[in-house]
Amino acid sequence: MPHSSGGGSHSGGSHSGGSHSSHSSRSSGGGSSSGYSSRRTSSTPFKGAKRYIYYKDNKPHLVYSNYDIRKRDYGSVLPTWIVMGVIFGPFVFIGIVLMIKSFYMPERIEYSQYKKNAPEFIIEDNLDIFENERKLRKSMESFYDTTGIVPAVITISNDDWTEDYKSLEAYAYDVYVQRFPDEVHWLIVYSEKTKDNGFNDWYWEGMQGDRTDPVLTGDKADAFTKSLNDRLLKRNKYSVDDAIAITLDEHAPKMMSLTFDRSDFTLGAIVFVMMSSMLAIVFLTCRPRKVSEEYKNAVPCELNVVYQASCNFCGGMYVVGMHTGCPHCGASIPPQNYIQDPQGNVIKIL
Ligand SMILES: [Zn+2]
Repeated sequence: MPHSSGGGSHSGGSHSGGSHSSHSSRSSGGGSSSGYSSRRTSSTPFKGAKRYIYYKDNKPHLVYSNYDIRKRDYGSVLPTWIVMGVIFGPFVFIGIVLMIKSFYMPERIEYSQYKKNAPEFIIEDNLDIFENERKLRKSMESFYDTTGIVPAVITISNDDWTEDYKSLEAYAYDVYVQRFPDEVHWLIVYSEKTKDNGFNDWYWEGMQGDRTDPVLTGDKADAFTKSLNDRLLKRNKYSVDDAIAITLDEHAPKMMSLTFDRSDFTLGAIVFVMMSSMLAIVFLTCRPRKVSEEYKNAVPCELNVVYQASCNFCGGMYVVGMHTGCPHCGASIPPQNYIQDPQGNVIKIL
């Protein structure tokens, strides 16, 4: 269905066309999976456990664990990270692609795709106000050659639409639907009526087909609307047909220049920001538990019985045979005599 490309009136104001494209997106939310863990620590030995020793409050403490208590357990959160990455990652990618693709060089619209015959350039000056129709036609043809969009220009009296339509836009819409079902036309309707006091009450409206959208984007239609309206306000300088012709000439090359599709970019940016935030939240909140301070300096120690001794300097307890310096104060530990088994474990202090 066609839609307004913009319009204006004698009051000097011009308006933009309606929204050019609307997108809706739905994001699928993902459930969160809690990190599984078969990790276990205990103060007593169990099958598959390794023994670690750490020092706290001047005493050695033993802990039995089936994992390395000194390291964060990334394995427990990795499945969540992967699942979330698979769910949200593609959306982040789509967002980036949309943002990049919102900048593009427009391609000329192929009229022959939609209609067999060569385009007709319709000029219907019902008001008989045009001064140089040939010039206008030339500009319309040239605009078509550049863009593939077929302009059509109609002038009417206000009396022709004010009875049946609320606005010139509504009238232009009906004319468009009846006459240009191909949706590759761009209809410009100019309407006026000179009142008894000599005041010219004029309006104009542009109506573009959906197939003109890739070239005649919202921003480009807005720029055209403003230019044309500015000229129509300078009636001592431009006749109506002149204003339209010059504005078409002026904007034809601009239509084919680098285009920025704001709605695509906005959608891409929203998707990108939302989805990457979701990923950031997942990575920040679902993290392996921190290694507690006391575990950080833990050392693995064999399962055999270990003997403890107290430091001559600070009195702190330590495990014999594992240190050359006191784990509490750092004082060097004098050599001690003890008996080790073939695996190097202290089995007796002499
Ligand atoms: Zn000590």
